[in-house]
Amino acid sequence: EGVTVGEFAEALGVPSSDVIKRLFMLGQAFTVTQTMPEEMVELIADDMGRKVRIVSPEEEYAIVYNDSEEDLKPRPPVVTVMGHVDHGKTSLLDAIRSSGVALSEAGGITQHIGASVVNVQGRQVTFIDTPGHEAFTAMRARGAEVTDVVVLVVAADDGVMPQTVEAINHAEAAGVPIVVAVNKIDKPGANPDRVRQELVEYGVIPEEWGGSNMFVNVSAKKKEGIDDLLETILLQADVLELKANPDAIASGFVIEANLDRGRGPVATVLVQRGTLKPGDVVVAGQSYGRVRALVDPRGNHTKAAKPSDPVEILGLGSVPTAGDEFRVFEEERDARKLAEERQMRARLKEQEARGHVSLDDLFSRIEEGMADLNLVVKADVQGSIEALRDAFAKMDQSEVRINIIHAAVGGVTETDVTLAAASDAIIIGFNVRPTAGARKSAEREKVDIRLYRVIYQAIEDINAARVGMLAPEI
Ligand code: GDP
Repeated sequence: EGVTVGEFAEALGVPSSDVIKRLFMLGQAFTVTQTMPEEMVELIADDMGRKVRIVSPEEEYAIVYNDSEEDLKPRPPVVTVMGHVDHGKTSLLDAIRSSGVALSEAGGITQHIGASVVNVQGRQVTFIDTPGHEAFTAMRARGAEVTDVVVLVVAADDGVMPQTVEAINHAEAAGVPIVVAVNKIDKPGANPDRVRQELVEYGVIPEEWGGSNMFVNVSAKKKEGIDDLLETILLQADVLELKANPDAIASGFVIEANLDRGRGPVATVLVQRGTLKPGDVVVAGQSYGRVRALVDPRGNHTKAAKPSDPVEILGLGSVPTAGDEFRVFEEERDARKLAEERQMRARLKEQEARGHVSLDDLFSRIEEGMADLNLVVKADVQGSIEALRDAFAKMDQSEVRINIIHAAVGGVTETDVTLAAASDAIIIGFNVRPTAGARKSAEREKVDIRLYRVIYQAIEDINAARVGMLAPEI
């Protein structure tokens, strides 16, 4: 049953000491022959840049998307609007939103949830509300492929500009087809044909010229050509034959998230597969929770969000990040396990990036609100340890909590360093010296070892660190 540390290391072709060290960094003590918990197998492998696949019935988060053909049902297209600044992305989205029945239904108030849905002759089109390729690329960088069609807005009086070209490149990199909206045709200097000619150079060629891109002339300001554009988007979508399984376990991506004063963490997600319902247990990135309510783009509570539906989730325990994948779990226990694993992994990454704490950077960490000072104390006699303990206990700990996580008589050893590294502690040596091995591993692990001969000096240093006045290390 399971895999031992030794077997795991062998499978990955790394020394088992390396695996043990990484486990230790996570606060887990293991020997070579011990069996590793599954979450540790995945976590450590991922940490080492490797992928493992654990095969077990509980492993719900590794569902393979193998929907059979008959499970797949047509789904609406998801559209992102891109283009050069000031070419009319925002205006176009506004015009589109007000073109449907949405406006009259909501009494003229458009609820902002990060995406909108428009009804076009009984068919739905979903628009991601954040226009521009930065958001699009940031999402893609996180593995979130949420766009089926890109609407490229080009102002007819300005033509192809640098960000137009960037948008084309991003859409192409993502393999997403481009529908061109030639905007501002109401303007006196507008030349829609010149826009077509200019785009040919970048491989965006109108269908009427033998290319594969659909073009529509519009005026976002005068709300002209909007219906034509929406129909063209649907035509493009038909070519793509977009489908998804609405009966699967729901999953998709977070497109926006924030902390709402009254409602707590709120995440707008785009459902890509399955149907999301109130009461579902959801993991989104590092957060999880039970869906308390679902809110649609019109601000109404809804009982189901299907593939390509954007919907607000209420009930998550914390705020996820845009681009995070979300997924429904059958067991709350599994959801919590996965979310906590991800939190731990993020902490590990952060810790690695940051190096370990030293007395010198304690002050900046106090300012960041991280106010724990962990200490490993080694001393020549027990009396010195007690003296230090008493002195620390008397210090004002309202801003910085001083935790002695280990104190013992003897020199500073490699084990002390490993412990300090694992718990982000500083080592205080009183009338003792580190071994050569301890020195080396402290350097490697970036653990701060401070050696003192006089008690009050140690106390002064800790005190000074607390208030951010520490003299440079001697
Ligand atoms: P974005 O930066 O791409 O989001 O562009 P905006 O939607 O903010 O539009 C930039 C400017 O162009 C604004 O002053 C709009 O009023 C104007 N604009 C947008 N669409 C049209 C249009 O169809 N015709 C005219 N004349 N002006 C437009």
